[in-house]
Amino acid sequence: MIGDLYPGDNRGWIEVVCGVMFSGKSEELIRRVRRALIARKRVQVFKSHLDERYSGIYHVSSHDGRTVEAVPIDTPEQIARELRDDTQVVAIDEAQFLPVAIVDLATALASSGRRVILAGTDTDFRGEPFGPMPQLLAVAEIVDKLHAICVVCGNPASRNQRLIGGRPARYDSPTIMVGGDESYEARCRSCHSVPRRDEDQVPLL
Ligand code: ADP
Ligand code: ZN
Repeated sequence: MIGDLYPGDNRGWIEVVCGVMFSGKSEELIRRVRRALIARKRVQVFKSHLDERYSGIYHVSSHDGRTVEAVPIDTPEQIARELRDDTQVVAIDEAQFLPVAIVDLATALASSGRRVILAGTDTDFRGEPFGPMPQLLAVAEIVDKLHAICVVCGNPASRNQRLIGGRPARYDSPTIMVGGDESYEARCRSCHSVPRRDEDQVPLL
C-alpha cells in the first residue's frame, strides 16, 4: 500500500484516501489508524456529523462492520478545539462534508509535524468534485483513489449512483440530502445515470 510509505518521524504530511461509496475508504482509514496505534502514536479520529452509518456518530464504521472511535465534528474549528498538543496523527473521515477551511487546517496540522489522514468521497452523485476534496487532493503528499465494484456490470466503480424511490436522482437534486429516503449504489461511468430535467420528458434514442 502506497499509504504506508511515510516521510518519517516528526515530519508532518497529508494523506488523502478518496473514491466512491463502498470503495473501502473507511476500511483503509481504520487500518491506518490501527497501525498508527500499534506504532504507539497518539491518534485522534474525527468524523463529520453528517454521516450516521450503522453504529452511530461516535465511530468510524466500514461497510464490513469494523469500527474505531471518532469525535463527531461539523467544522475545522471544532477539530482545532478538540486537538491535544501531543497528538501525532489526526484522522478525519467523511471530509467531503466539511467546509473548504479544512484545507488550511490540514495544512497547519501538517506544518506542525503531524500526520494528517483524510478520507472522503471525491465526487458527488453527479460525478462532479465534492466540497473541499479537489483542494485536499492537490495539497496532499500522498493520494490513494479507491474503487468499488459496479453493481450493474461488475467493472470497477468510480461513480455514486443516487436513487430516489428506486430511480436515478436528477442532476438538480441537492448535493447533500439530509434525512432523505435516497439510497446509493456504486457504479462505473457507463452505468451511471444522472438525468437532467429535459431528459425526463424526452427519452434518449
Ligand atoms: P467507503 O468508506 O468507501 O464507503 P467502506 O470501507 O465503508 O467503504 O466499505 C467497503 C466494503 O463495502 C467492502 O469491503 C465490501 O465488503 C462492501 N461493499 C458493499 N458493496 C460493495 C460494492 N459495490 N463494491 C465494493 N465493496 C462493496
Ligand atoms: Zn457498470
